[in-house]
Amino acid sequence: MIGTPFTSSAKKIMLCGSGELGKEVVIELQRYGIEVIACDAYENAPAMQVADRSYVFSMLDSNELRRVIELEKPDLVVPEVEAIATDTLAEIESEGKATIIPTARATQLTMNREGIRRMAVEELGCKTSPYAFAATEEDYMAAIEKIGLPCVVKPIMSSSGKGQSTVKTQDDALTSWKYAQEGGRAGAGKVIIEGFVDFDYEITLLTIRHVGGTSFCAPVGHIQVDGDYRESWQPAPMSASALESAQEMAAAVTKNLGGYGLFGVEMFVKNDEVIFSEVSPRPHDTGMVTMISQDLSQFALHARAILGLPIPNIEQHGPSASCALVVEGHSENVRFDNISTALAQPDTQLRLFGKPKVAGKRRMAVALARGSDVEAARAAARKVTEEVGVIL
Ligand code: AMP
Repeated sequence: MIGTPFTSSAKKIMLCGSGELGKEVVIELQRYGIEVIACDAYENAPAMQVADRSYVFSMLDSNELRRVIELEKPDLVVPEVEAIATDTLAEIESEGKATIIPTARATQLTMNREGIRRMAVEELGCKTSPYAFAATEEDYMAAIEKIGLPCVVKPIMSSSGKGQSTVKTQDDALTSWKYAQEGGRAGAGKVIIEGFVDFDYEITLLTIRHVGGTSFCAPVGHIQVDGDYRESWQPAPMSASALESAQEMAAAVTKNLGGYGLFGVEMFVKNDEVIFSEVSPRPHDTGMVTMISQDLSQFALHARAILGLPIPNIEQHGPSASCALVVEGHSENVRFDNISTALAQPDTQLRLFGKPKVAGKRRMAVALARGSDVEAARAAARKVTEEVGVIL
């Protein structure tokens, strides 16, 4: 049952994190007449611009998180970022004050690369890159020795490539350690050292746990630069046997995390062998392509799943791609022009996120395109981002 917003029957959903992915989730929830409260650490975050109300506080601030949940009494709390006071979410869940999407345990495990890695390998036996954890420089140097070169170093609490680098020679080791110590979300701390996987390609398998079971979107292929997504496309060409292994792995991992919602399961594929990388218990940045490639985008699917609504089928509209528009510089007044020329190409779309500021490198928009094949779609999406003018 869904009631009327701003009345006692309203179904209320609180979003923790209000970026571009959250903005689309809010839009989809608004279509069902949900009362949405958006939270993030800065004012005018993208999802706040389309929500009914917003609160500005750090999602890592346990007291404030609890205070706002107790004040707003949402039916569901929907995390949009990894860095949240997840122990507070676990308490809220066990006190029966709100349902955490997908589950509080899933948010705890995926907030920390160590939690999810150990679950996937030690509980489920998934294949992953060789790995070790280190909290001190001494342990780190020993771990590099054990894993071997090249290897990838990441803070255990980080995302979008922050603090991540590849150690190719012994001379890079100290630089990577220092970089990881600066890039961790919660400041200096533990890192994971992963053997470098020389994969043929990588995919995100968008997996939905819903009232009727588990469904999959067609695999999404993507390219990352410095650990941050730049382009994605769907369907990623894969052999039937690799796809079957990927679906089995995604079903097992998401079943273990539990609850309802959409998950982005990231995997590497080498010679048809599927290697688990990580999972987001929420829509994934590479899944933005589904805004043009599917009748129900990953955001619409997430909304349906968390509202307990059925997902009988997902229609694919054919080869499609997304290309991120990453802006570099400093401004609190970014302007975009030449949009009419950029969008004069058929079967293209553009989403401007409305982020209030850029300081350094920031993803500010995404171009979407369909084409006769994924290469044509990728070229068209790239062309849109190249044509849009950015004024800082
Ligand atoms: P992550 O933040 O763990 O998703 O890493 C971001 C990106 O870095 C991945 O999508 C890969 O392109 C690359 N990457 C991460 N870990 C490895 C690895 N062990 N071997 C090779 N490439 C990796």
